Amino acid sequence: MNKRRWVAFVPSFINIFFERQMKETALERLLRYVKIDTQSDPHSETVPTTKKQFNLANMLVDELKDLGIKDVELDDKCYLYATLPSNLPEGETAPKIGYIAHLDTSPDTTGKDVKPQIIENYQGGDIVLPGDTSIVIKDDKIENPRLKDCIGHTLLTTDGTTLLGGDDKAGIAVIMTIVDYYLSNPDVKHGPIGIAFTPDEEVGRGADHFDVEKFACEYAYTVDGEMPGEINKETFSANGGTITASGRDIHPGFAKDRMINSMRAMADIMALMPKDMAPETTDGRDPYIHPHKFDGTVAESKLELLFRDFDTDGLDKQKKIIEDIIAKVQPNYPTTKIEFEIKEYYRNMADKLAENPKGLDYLFEAATEAGANPYWNPIRGGTDGARLTFMGLPCPNIYGGGQNFHAKTEWLSVDAMNMSVETLKNLTRIWMEKK
Ligand SMILES: [Zn+2]
Repeated sequence: MNKRRWVAFVPSFINIFFERQMKETALERLLRYVKIDTQSDPHSETVPTTKKQFNLANMLVDELKDLGIKDVELDDKCYLYATLPSNLPEGETAPKIGYIAHLDTSPDTTGKDVKPQIIENYQGGDIVLPGDTSIVIKDDKIENPRLKDCIGHTLLTTDGTTLLGGDDKAGIAVIMTIVDYYLSNPDVKHGPIGIAFTPDEEVGRGADHFDVEKFACEYAYTVDGEMPGEINKETFSANGGTITASGRDIHPGFAKDRMINSMRAMADIMALMPKDMAPETTDGRDPYIHPHKFDGTVAESKLELLFRDFDTDGLDKQKKIIEDIIAKVQPNYPTTKIEFEIKEYYRNMADKLAENPKGLDYLFEAATEAGANPYWNPIRGGTDGARLTFMGLPCPNIYGGGQNFHAKTEWLSVDAMNMSVETLKNLTRIWMEKK
């Protein structure tokens, strides 16, 4: 029997209880999830990098089962997979699509004892955080350009002593809410939906142990973005590089003609790097070369570099720039040995997604229908979705409603998060209709 009709026959206090159970909002879920510390750790060698990510994963297993999902599995690496089966009439099919969010929060800022603050009917202006009044979410165009779009919204912040963790617990709350929605409204038809919650995204390892075969989706979406309607199908292509200069150390008292100070050559190399191709001088689609770590002694100096370009061929040009600089500096230091090594990191998922663009078109349509005014924004970084795309699961990214990720000034619009819920409902329906 239809559950809702059945509920109408039971006494009203139970009815209220049922309604509340079945209609928990994304906000109510999010408030519960952010209180669980799930910070990941880049220095850990274990999988997951921190055991505490299981605390949230286990809670989600229970909640999915309580909602009525039978097919739920949490593996020993803290990857949670679940399937909401299709409720289409027999004989009708739709492709299985997936929604993915990550369990962990950034190592940059603590996520322990998060005390969320709700601001109802925001009317503009700076937001001073009560636990540390030196931390202010400024209502200005450079720091928080999207605050002006949130007049009248319900906002969520921290008390200023932690991050919020809306990245990416808003994504989890949005996905759990649509599962609840479909199970509470069996009349709404949908195809099969895969759900995955993954650990260690913030330390770049979220895709490492993802079982694409088990997930068995034709197309998936990470719900790990910021404000509506930013949607993402492009990431940088990325390499890493190391320049090593080797010299010879000797007591400075009798160093004449014998000491070879490796740092001198490295300083010249660094000085020649293009300053108009640096992260601090570029944005939008501009590429950069970023020297980000230096270790130096007389005997040996190491400089680590990041290479980033949306155009993968551009990475070869960046390599050539560094090779030319080294070729210029080397003759001035004939006894210093200079070596340069490149490592491949990740590639722009746009090239791969272009092979299968319909899931992008459907997303754009779903976001338009939700009133989000969608636009494609290139991500100046990488995502787990980019790696999953190259592992065979096309995976663009959708907004979850937050801003200022990884910081104590992180904030989220509950209205924007709800728009993400609507977008996922539309998207699921469009996949069912258009296949
Ligand atoms: Zn995230």
